[in-house]
Amino acid sequence: MPKLRIAGIQFNPVLGQVEQNVAKIRSLAATLTKPIDLLVLPELAVTGYNFKNAAEIQPFLEGRTGPTYSLARDLSTLYKCTTIVGYPENYEGTTYNLAMVVNEEGDLVHNYRKTHLYETDEAWGCVENPEKDFAAVDLVLGKGSERQTIRTSIGICMDLNPYKFTAPFNEFEFSMSAYANLARLVVVPTAWLDSESPDIQEDCSDKEKLELAAKIKKQLETETYPDAKDLLTLLIDYWIVRLFPFLSHPMNGLPKQPQKTTAVICNRTGIEDQTFYGGSLCILQFDRSIPETLDTDSNNPSVSVINSAGRATEEVIYLEVDV
Ligand code: GLN
Repeated sequence: MPKLRIAGIQFNPVLGQVEQNVAKIRSLAATLTKPIDLLVLPELAVTGYNFKNAAEIQPFLEGRTGPTYSLARDLSTLYKCTTIVGYPENYEGTTYNLAMVVNEEGDLVHNYRKTHLYETDEAWGCVENPEKDFAAVDLVLGKGSERQTIRTSIGICMDLNPYKFTAPFNEFEFSMSAYANLARLVVVPTAWLDSESPDIQEDCSDKEKLELAAKIKKQLETETYPDAKDLLTLLIDYWIVRLFPFLSHPMNGLPKQPQKTTAVICNRTGIEDQTFYGGSLCILQFDRSIPETLDTDSNNPSVSVINSAGRATEEVIYLEVDV
């Protein structure tokens, strides 16, 4: 069985601090001690995500060359791996939220634009991917005799959710496309909110949200945030539900596919204003040859959480998987 060596970097990209974020990514990558084939970074990893409006993000929009591409090229050639990383794109005057794929030679081989937008994307003037088909891409990954073409579905954060949170939950737009495309690899860079993020606490007043944000910020700075290093499976369990077509479950009437599907969900940590991100970067593997159970979360034996990061920590995770 061919092996794929995957690494993901979870960290806190500081809004607008490109040089600082690039340095952080480089230093975290430098802690890798084993060869890798695929490196995944979060959504808008180099620029930060929570821009308030189009004017604020304007200086940080990139093209096919820019700080994100330069970094991805450097990392790919240094570690002889394929790098997938998110950035805000200006394409012929239109703004997209994009993930680029850069191969071992440092060549840009694929771009994916976010299809389901979150309110933050809309605030900074991002436009939906006009092609709403979540097309898969064949990535050539691995080294030597392990080199192989792997059908891959790339999504960005909100793509895992129902369109605008209004589409039927069980339409599973992104994961149904990945299933239909026989994806063996699913890669999702994210900037996913923690359930304790102040801005989504509907019962809190504006003042309470501000206070909560200040408290979380302080705890993160002093490394006393509760459960920071522990994995809370809340996010991971939710992501597993959203990948339901790959799960062995009595309600999954889709024909079984022979291949396993490996998912890399690469979230960030940290707090930007009142938005607190929930980490939990994980590598999951789904295998429908394992018998069904009623569980729709990490208790279901057909999905293994084969590596994952903490809730609020900056770290690199590494895993060698049979794909
Ligand atoms: N639904 C996601 C969240 O709540 C979307 C965020 C995003 O698209 N960056 O975090």
